[in-house]
Amino acid sequence: MKTALVLGAGGFIGGHLVKRLKREGFWVRGVDIKFHEHAETEADDFVIGDLRDQQVVRSVIDRRFDEVYQLAADMGGAGYIFTGENDANVMHNSATINLNVLDACHKRTIKRVFYSSSACMYPSHNQEDPDNPNCAEDSAYPANPDSEYGWEKLFSERLYLAYNRNFGMECRVARYHNIFGPEGTWDGGKEKAPAALCRKVAATPDGGEIEVWGDGLQTRSFLYIDECLEGTTRLLRSEFEGPVNIGSEEMISINDLARMVAEISGKSISIRNIPGPEGVRGRNSDNRLIAERLGWAPQMPLRTGMERTFDWISGELSRRPNHV
Ligand code: NAD
Repeated sequence: MKTALVLGAGGFIGGHLVKRLKREGFWVRGVDIKFHEHAETEADDFVIGDLRDQQVVRSVIDRRFDEVYQLAADMGGAGYIFTGENDANVMHNSATINLNVLDACHKRTIKRVFYSSSACMYPSHNQEDPDNPNCAEDSAYPANPDSEYGWEKLFSERLYLAYNRNFGMECRVARYHNIFGPEGTWDGGKEKAPAALCRKVAATPDGGEIEVWGDGLQTRSFLYIDECLEGTTRLLRSEFEGPVNIGSEEMISINDLARMVAEISGKSISIRNIPGPEGVRGRNSDNRLIAERLGWAPQMPLRTGMERTFDWISGELSRRPNHV
Protein backbone atom coordinates (compact mmCIF):
# COMPACT_ATOMS: atom_id res chain seq x y z
CA MET A 1 0.00 0.00 0.00
CA LYS A 2 1.35 3.43 -0.92
CA THR A 3 1.91 5.90 1.90
CA ALA A 4 1.43 9.66 2.01
CA LEU A 5 2.22 12.32 4.58
CA VAL A 6 0.11 15.49 4.64
CA LEU A 7 1.58 18.30 6.73
CA GLY A 8 -1.06 20.89 7.54
CA ALA A 9 -3.79 18.19 7.42
CA GLY A 10 -5.89 20.10 9.94
CA GLY A 11 -6.18 22.98 7.48
CA PHE A 12 -8.40 23.69 4.51
CA ILE A 13 -6.41 22.25 1.60
CA GLY A 14 -4.74 19.56 3.72
CA GLY A 15 -8.10 18.30 5.00
CA HIS A 16 -9.44 17.91 1.46
CA LEU A 17 -6.19 16.33 0.27
CA VAL A 18 -6.34 13.65 2.97
CA LYS A 19 -9.84 12.68 1.76
CA ARG A 20 -8.66 12.51 -1.83
CA LEU A 21 -5.60 10.39 -1.03
CA LYS A 22 -7.78 8.02 0.99
CA ARG A 23 -10.11 7.64 -2.01
CA GLU A 24 -7.03 6.83 -4.10
CA GLY A 25 -6.11 4.02 -1.68
CA PHE A 26 -3.16 5.54 0.20
CA TRP A 27 -2.30 4.96 3.85
CA VAL A 28 -2.24 8.57 5.07
CA ARG A 29 -0.64 10.25 8.04
CA GLY A 30 -1.80 13.80 8.73
CA VAL A 31 0.03 16.26 10.97
CA ASP A 32 -1.11 19.62 12.27
CA ILE A 33 -0.89 21.79 15.35
CA LYS A 34 -4.66 21.54 15.64
CA PHE A 35 -7.53 19.28 14.61
CA HIS A 36 -9.58 20.22 11.57
CA GLU A 37 -12.27 22.67 12.64
CA HIS A 38 -14.94 21.66 10.14
CA ALA A 39 -14.62 17.93 9.47
CA GLU A 40 -13.45 14.69 11.05
CA THR A 41 -10.14 13.67 9.58
CA GLU A 42 -10.07 10.59 7.35
CA ALA A 43 -6.32 10.10 7.92
CA ASP A 44 -5.27 6.66 9.15
CA ASP A 45 -3.02 8.38 11.63
CA PHE A 46 -3.44 12.01 12.71
CA VAL A 47 -0.65 13.49 14.80
CA ILE A 48 -1.04 16.73 16.71
CA GLY A 49 2.40 18.32 16.69
CA ASP A 50 4.22 21.59 16.18
CA LEU A 51 6.28 21.38 13.01
CA ARG A 52 8.51 24.21 14.23
CA ASP A 53 9.95 21.62 16.57
CA GLN A 54 12.69 19.59 14.88
CA GLN A 55 12.12 16.57 17.12
CA VAL A 56 8.41 16.48 16.25
CA VAL A 57 9.21 16.69 12.55
CA ARG A 58 11.75 13.88 12.77
CA SER A 59 9.32 11.70 14.68
CA VAL A 60 6.48 12.07 12.15
CA ILE A 61 8.84 11.55 9.18
CA ASP A 62 9.78 8.10 10.42
CA ARG A 63 9.59 6.20 7.13
CA ARG A 64 10.08 6.67 3.39
CA PHE A 65 6.67 8.01 2.46
CA ASP A 66 5.88 7.67 -1.24
CA GLU A 67 4.38 11.17 -1.30
CA VAL A 68 4.86 14.09 1.08
CA TYR A 69 2.69 17.21 0.83
CA GLN A 70 3.98 20.21 2.81
CA LEU A 71 1.01 22.55 3.27
CA ALA A 72 1.58 23.74 6.84
CA ALA A 73 2.09 27.49 7.09
CA ASP A 74 1.22 30.43 9.27
CA MET A 75 -1.22 32.07 6.92
CA GLY A 76 -4.51 33.91 6.50
CA GLY A 77 -6.37 36.30 4.22
CA ALA A 78 -5.70 40.01 3.68
CA GLY A 79 -6.79 40.83 7.24
CA TYR A 80 -3.97 38.68 8.55
CA ILE A 81 -1.21 39.12 5.98
CA PHE A 82 -1.37 42.82 5.13
CA THR A 83 -1.76 44.56 8.49
CA GLY A 84 1.95 44.09 9.30
CA GLU A 85 1.11 42.85 12.78
CA ASN A 86 1.86 39.19 12.05
CA ASP A 87 4.96 39.59 9.88
CA ALA A 88 7.55 38.16 12.28
CA ASN A 89 5.39 35.16 13.12
CA VAL A 90 4.50 34.47 9.50
CA MET A 91 8.14 34.51 8.39
CA HIS A 92 9.62 32.71 11.37
CA ASN A 93 6.98 30.02 11.73
CA SER A 94 6.64 29.06 8.08
CA ALA A 95 10.38 29.21 7.30
CA THR A 96 11.17 27.06 10.35
CA ILE A 97 8.60 24.46 9.29
CA ASN A 98 10.06 24.28 5.78
CA LEU A 99 13.67 24.05 7.01
CA ASN A 100 12.74 21.25 9.41
CA VAL A 101 10.65 19.29 6.90
CA LEU A 102 13.24 19.35 4.15
CA ASP A 103 16.03 18.34 6.49
CA ALA A 104 14.02 15.41 7.88
CA CYS A 105 12.88 14.25 4.41
CA HIS A 106 16.44 14.41 3.10
CA LYS A 107 17.74 12.37 6.05
CA ARG A 108 15.00 9.75 5.47
CA THR A 109 15.97 9.68 1.75
CA ILE A 110 12.46 10.73 0.75
CA LYS A 111 12.57 12.14 -2.75
CA ARG A 112 9.16 13.53 -3.62
CA VAL A 113 7.93 16.48 -1.58
CA PHE A 114 5.22 18.85 -2.75
CA TYR A 115 5.52 22.45 -1.56
CA SER A 116 2.70 24.98 -1.77
CA SER A 117 4.09 28.41 -2.58
CA SER A 118 1.74 31.28 -3.33
CA ALA A 119 0.96 33.87 -6.00
CA CYS A 120 1.81 36.35 -3.23
CA MET A 121 5.47 35.92 -4.18
CA TYR A 122 4.99 37.74 -7.51
CA PRO A 123 6.36 41.30 -7.75
CA SER A 124 3.83 43.93 -6.77
CA HIS A 125 5.02 46.25 -9.60
CA ASN A 126 3.55 43.76 -12.13
CA GLN A 127 0.16 43.80 -10.43
CA GLU A 128 -0.73 47.48 -10.41
CA ASP A 129 -3.14 47.36 -13.36
CA PRO A 130 -6.31 45.51 -12.28
CA ASP A 131 -7.12 44.63 -15.89
CA ASN A 132 -3.70 43.37 -16.88
CA PRO A 133 -1.65 41.77 -14.12
CA ASN A 134 1.42 39.72 -15.01
CA CYS A 135 1.82 36.50 -13.02
CA ALA A 136 3.76 34.44 -15.54
CA GLU A 137 6.22 32.18 -13.72
CA ASP A 138 9.23 33.89 -15.28
CA SER A 139 8.12 37.33 -14.05
CA ALA A 140 9.14 36.46 -10.47
CA TYR A 141 12.48 38.32 -10.62
CA PRO A 142 13.60 40.96 -9.75
CA ALA A 143 11.59 39.99 -6.69
CA ASN A 144 9.25 42.44 -5.01
CA PRO A 145 6.41 40.66 -3.18
CA ASP A 146 3.90 42.90 -1.43
CA SER A 147 4.01 41.03 1.89
CA GLU A 148 6.40 39.21 4.19
CA TYR A 149 4.21 36.16 3.59
CA GLY A 150 5.22 36.38 -0.09
CA TRP A 151 8.92 36.81 0.77
CA GLU A 152 8.86 33.70 2.94
CA LYS A 153 7.20 31.73 0.12
CA LEU A 154 9.89 32.90 -2.29
CA PHE A 155 12.67 31.89 0.13
CA SER A 156 11.10 28.50 0.74
CA GLU A 157 10.44 27.65 -2.89
CA ARG A 158 14.13 28.35 -3.54
CA LEU A 159 15.02 26.15 -0.58
CA TYR A 160 13.07 23.18 -2.01
CA LEU A 161 14.67 23.61 -5.43
CA ALA A 162 18.13 23.92 -3.85
CA TYR A 163 17.60 20.49 -2.23
CA ASN A 164 16.77 19.15 -5.69
CA ARG A 165 19.99 20.54 -7.12
CA ASN A 166 22.35 19.69 -4.29
CA PHE A 167 20.89 16.52 -2.77
CA GLY A 168 19.12 14.81 -5.67
CA MET A 169 15.65 15.32 -4.22
CA GLU A 170 12.63 15.63 -6.53
CA CYS A 171 10.59 18.34 -4.80
CA ARG A 172 7.71 19.91 -6.71
CA VAL A 173 6.75 23.56 -6.21
CA ALA A 174 3.36 25.08 -7.06
CA ARG A 175 2.27 28.68 -6.70
CA TYR A 176 -1.36 28.54 -5.58
CA HIS A 177 -3.73 31.35 -6.55
CA ASN A 178 -6.58 31.86 -4.03
CA ILE A 179 -7.97 28.41 -3.37
CA PHE A 180 -11.52 28.31 -2.02
CA GLY A 181 -14.38 25.94 -1.22
CA PRO A 182 -16.32 24.34 1.62
CA GLU A 183 -14.63 23.40 4.91
CA GLY A 184 -12.30 26.41 4.87
CA THR A 185 -11.88 29.26 7.33
CA TRP A 186 -14.88 31.58 7.03
CA ASP A 187 -14.61 33.79 10.12
CA GLY A 188 -12.20 34.88 12.84
CA GLY A 189 -9.89 37.14 10.77
CA LYS A 190 -7.93 34.54 8.75
CA GLU A 191 -10.66 34.01 6.13
CA LYS A 192 -10.19 35.05 2.52
CA ALA A 193 -12.42 37.10 0.23
CA PRO A 194 -14.72 34.32 -1.16
CA ALA A 195 -15.50 32.96 2.33
CA ALA A 196 -15.78 36.42 3.89
CA LEU A 197 -18.22 37.57 1.20
CA CYS A 198 -20.30 34.40 1.51
CA ARG A 199 -20.49 34.88 5.28
CA LYS A 200 -21.44 38.56 5.01
CA VAL A 201 -24.13 37.90 2.41
CA ALA A 202 -25.51 34.90 4.30
CA ALA A 203 -25.72 36.98 7.49
CA THR A 204 -27.42 39.97 5.83
CA PRO A 205 -31.19 40.18 5.36
CA ASP A 206 -32.79 40.81 1.98
CA GLY A 207 -32.42 44.52 1.12
CA GLY A 208 -29.39 44.93 3.40
CA GLU A 209 -25.85 46.09 2.79
CA ILE A 210 -22.42 44.46 3.11
CA GLU A 211 -19.00 46.06 3.52
CA VAL A 212 -16.28 45.30 1.00
CA TRP A 213 -12.65 46.31 1.64
CA GLY A 214 -11.06 48.82 -0.73
CA ASP A 215 -12.81 50.29 -3.77
CA GLY A 216 -13.78 46.76 -4.83
CA LEU A 217 -12.21 47.25 -8.26
CA GLN A 218 -9.16 45.18 -7.31
CA THR A 219 -9.18 41.94 -9.31
CA ARG A 220 -8.35 38.33 -8.46
CA SER A 221 -9.00 34.80 -9.69
CA PHE A 222 -10.14 31.93 -7.47
CA LEU A 223 -9.65 28.20 -7.87
CA TYR A 224 -12.04 25.63 -6.47
CA ILE A 225 -10.48 23.12 -4.07
CA ASP A 226 -11.11 19.99 -6.21
CA GLU A 227 -9.30 21.58 -9.14
CA CYS A 228 -6.43 22.56 -6.86
CA LEU A 229 -6.02 18.95 -5.69
CA GLU A 230 -6.05 17.66 -9.24
CA GLY A 231 -3.26 20.09 -10.20
CA THR A 232 -1.35 19.30 -7.00
CA THR A 233 -1.31 15.51 -7.35
CA ARG A 234 -0.57 15.73 -11.07
CA LEU A 235 2.40 17.98 -10.41
CA LEU A 236 3.83 15.81 -7.61
CA ARG A 237 3.61 12.73 -9.82
CA SER A 238 5.10 14.45 -12.87
CA GLU A 239 8.68 14.99 -13.94
CA PHE A 240 8.32 18.80 -13.80
CA GLU A 241 9.68 20.46 -10.66
CA GLY A 242 8.08 23.88 -11.20
CA PRO A 243 7.60 26.44 -9.81
CA VAL A 244 4.28 26.54 -11.64
CA ASN A 245 1.00 28.37 -11.13
CA ILE A 246 -2.01 26.39 -9.95
CA GLY A 247 -4.90 28.77 -10.31
CA SER A 248 -7.80 29.91 -12.42
CA GLU A 249 -7.64 32.44 -15.25
CA GLU A 250 -11.24 33.59 -14.62
CA MET A 251 -10.43 37.03 -13.22
CA ILE A 252 -13.10 39.05 -11.43
CA SER A 253 -13.25 42.27 -9.40
CA ILE A 254 -14.03 41.92 -5.71
CA ASN A 255 -17.22 43.97 -6.10
CA ASP A 256 -18.35 41.67 -8.92
CA LEU A 257 -17.58 38.67 -6.74
CA ALA A 258 -19.74 40.20 -4.01
CA ARG A 259 -22.53 40.73 -6.58
CA MET A 260 -22.19 37.12 -7.69
CA VAL A 261 -22.63 35.90 -4.12
CA ALA A 262 -25.65 38.17 -3.61
CA GLU A 263 -27.19 36.75 -6.78
CA ILE A 264 -26.54 33.17 -5.61
CA SER A 265 -28.25 33.97 -2.30
CA GLY A 266 -31.32 35.27 -4.14
CA LYS A 267 -31.27 38.41 -1.98
CA SER A 268 -30.99 42.02 -2.98
CA ILE A 269 -27.82 43.26 -1.27
CA SER A 270 -25.98 46.54 -1.78
CA ILE A 271 -22.25 47.03 -1.40
CA ARG A 272 -20.49 49.67 0.68
CA ASN A 273 -16.79 49.97 -0.05
CA ILE A 274 -14.77 50.81 3.03
CA PRO A 275 -11.02 51.28 3.64
CA GLY A 276 -9.34 47.98 4.48
CA PRO A 277 -6.36 45.78 3.62
CA GLU A 278 -6.57 44.77 -0.03
CA GLY A 279 -3.14 43.80 -1.40
CA VAL A 280 -2.16 44.31 -5.04
CA ARG A 281 -4.58 45.93 -7.52
CA GLY A 282 -4.80 42.96 -9.85
CA ARG A 283 -3.82 39.30 -9.82
CA ASN A 284 -4.66 36.46 -12.16
CA SER A 285 -3.19 33.05 -12.76
CA ASP A 286 -1.26 32.52 -15.97
CA ASN A 287 -1.82 28.89 -16.93
CA ARG A 288 0.31 28.64 -20.06
CA LEU A 289 3.18 26.83 -18.37
CA ILE A 290 1.08 24.20 -16.58
CA ALA A 291 -0.87 23.55 -19.79
CA GLU A 292 2.38 23.09 -21.67
CA ARG A 293 4.15 20.91 -19.07
CA LEU A 294 1.27 18.90 -17.60
CA GLY A 295 -1.36 19.23 -20.33
CA TRP A 296 -3.85 20.34 -17.69
CA ALA A 297 -6.14 23.30 -17.05
CA PRO A 298 -8.92 23.76 -14.49
CA GLN A 299 -12.47 23.47 -15.86
CA MET A 300 -14.98 24.53 -13.23
CA PRO A 301 -16.58 27.97 -13.63
CA LEU A 302 -16.14 30.27 -10.62
CA ARG A 303 -19.89 30.53 -10.19
CA THR A 304 -20.28 26.76 -9.60
CA GLY A 305 -17.62 26.76 -6.91
CA MET A 306 -19.10 29.85 -5.27
CA GLU A 307 -22.55 28.22 -5.17
CA ARG A 308 -21.13 25.21 -3.30
CA THR A 309 -19.16 27.44 -0.94
CA PHE A 310 -22.11 29.71 -0.23
CA ASP A 311 -24.32 26.72 0.56
CA TRP A 312 -21.77 25.35 3.00
CA ILE A 313 -21.12 28.68 4.77
CA SER A 314 -24.86 29.43 5.02
CA GLY A 315 -25.29 26.04 6.70
CA GLU A 316 -22.41 26.73 9.13
CA LEU A 317 -23.82 30.15 9.94
CA SER A 318 -27.27 28.80 10.68
CA ARG A 319 -25.64 26.36 13.12
CA ARG A 320 -23.56 29.14 14.74
CA PRO A 321 -25.63 32.32 14.28
CA ASN A 322 -23.43 34.42 16.60
CA HIS A 323 -20.51 34.26 14.15
CA VAL A 324 -21.26 37.13 11.77
P1 NAD B 1 -4.74 26.63 6.36
O1 NAD B 1 -4.32 27.75 7.26
O2 NAD B 1 -6.14 26.19 6.39
O3 NAD B 1 -3.80 25.37 6.61
C1 NAD B 1 -2.49 25.47 7.08
C2 NAD B 1 -2.37 24.52 8.27
O4 NAD B 1 -1.04 24.58 8.77
C3 NAD B 1 -3.29 24.92 9.43
O5 NAD B 1 -4.20 23.87 9.74
C4 NAD B 1 -2.33 25.18 10.56
O6 NAD B 1 -2.82 24.80 11.84
C5 NAD B 1 -1.12 24.37 10.15
N1 NAD B 1 0.06 24.85 10.85
C6 NAD B 1 0.47 26.13 10.99
N2 NAD B 1 1.54 26.18 11.77
C7 NAD B 1 1.82 24.90 12.14
C8 NAD B 1 2.82 24.32 12.96
N3 NAD B 1 3.75 25.07 13.56
N4 NAD B 1 2.81 22.98 13.12
C9 NAD B 1 1.85 22.21 12.56
N5 NAD B 1 0.88 22.71 11.75
C10 NAD B 1 0.88 24.05 11.56
O7 NAD B 1 -4.31 27.08 4.90
P2 NAD B 1 -4.64 26.42 3.48
O8 NAD B 1 -5.52 27.37 2.77
O9 NAD B 1 -5.05 25.02 3.64
O10 NAD B 1 -3.21 26.50 2.79
C11 NAD B 1 -2.33 25.39 2.71
C12 NAD B 1 -1.01 25.85 2.08
O11 NAD B 1 -1.25 26.42 0.80
C13 NAD B 1 -0.27 26.92 2.89
O12 NAD B 1 1.10 26.69 2.81
C14 NAD B 1 -0.61 28.19 2.18
O13 NAD B 1 0.38 29.18 2.37
C15 NAD B 1 -0.66 27.72 0.74
N6 NAD B 1 -1.50 28.60 -0.09
C16 NAD B 1 -2.85 28.61 0.10
C17 NAD B 1 -3.61 29.45 -0.67
C18 NAD B 1 -5.11 29.52 -0.50
O14 NAD B 1 -5.74 30.29 -1.22
N7 NAD B 1 -5.71 28.75 0.38
C19 NAD B 1 -3.02 30.28 -1.64
C20 NAD B 1 -1.65 30.25 -1.79
C21 NAD B 1 -0.89 29.38 -1.02
